[in-house]
Amino acid sequence: MDALTQRAKLVDRRPMNWLEKIYLWEIFKGMSITLKHFFKKKVTIQYPEETRPFSPVFRGLQVLNRDEEGRERCTACGLCAVACPAEAITMEAAERLPGEEHLYREEKYAAKYEINMLRCIFCGLCEEACPKDAIYLSETFAPANYSRKSFIYSKDDLLIPDPVTQPEEYAAAKGLLDKKKKS
Ligand code: SF4
Ligand code: SF4
Repeated sequence: MDALTQRAKLVDRRPMNWLEKIYLWEIFKGMSITLKHFFKKKVTIQYPEETRPFSPVFRGLQVLNRDEEGRERCTACGLCAVACPAEAITMEAAERLPGEEHLYREEKYAAKYEINMLRCIFCGLCEEACPKDAIYLSETFAPANYSRKSFIYSKDDLLIPDPVTQPEEYAAAKGLLDKKKKS
């Protein structure tokens, strides 16, 4: 029968000679490979103390954005949910009330906004679909967890810190986005 690939190797079934029987030569060969790697640059890192730099095109956990005054940008238009191929986004819209102008940028806002991280494939289509620059994929990722429910991220989990009341936390979260835009 013809082989499908040229990678098949015939098994060597000849009897072992005395050098092969004492296994020393094979042990020496194995040790030489170990020693060779001993002096090479390490490919492993000491996670979590050390972390690998992400690629500039890495797409991680979603962040709901605020404007420079700290108001939520999302207007609950639903375009991100429609664009999402995994149907991972759900939301409920609400009307902004008089006196809430400092909280919400638009007349309508997302009273509830959830992303199911078990469905999300981090394609970035929600970010591309958003007309309000209200959602972006950051350089962090959804950490491992024990229950399926904990992978449903609510608006509180996704919303970026307020630049007015938490400027340092906001800058730390936003810094990665700015770097991404410059590259
Ligand atoms: S990154 Fe893709 S899969 Fe994930 S929520 Fe956005 S559109 Fe849906
Ligand atoms: S994140 Fe953007 S696209 Fe999604 S509902 Fe809010 S404003 Fe619309």
